[in-house]
Amino acid sequence: MRREVITFDKTDRIVGNRPEHFHRNPDPSAKVKEWACNSPYCEDLAGPHPDDGGPEPIVQGREPWRGGNR
Ligand SMILES: [Zn+2]
Repeated sequence: MRREVITFDKTDRIVGNRPEHFHRNPDPSAKVKEWACNSPYCEDLAGPHPDDGGPEPIVQGREPWRGGNR
């Protein structure tokens, strides 16, 4: 039996156990150039990390259009 252990950094955006994908920022001066994320709502995977002023990925179950946290 083999178990794959993946560790995530705190710049990653992993919530729950959905499969992850990787964002990459082509900007060479970015603080975070590559990070893992498993939001189901990402479309553009080439852009700045939230620490670099990019948008925070939407967390499944906490979609702003549900109005759950108002
Ligand atoms: Zn993402």
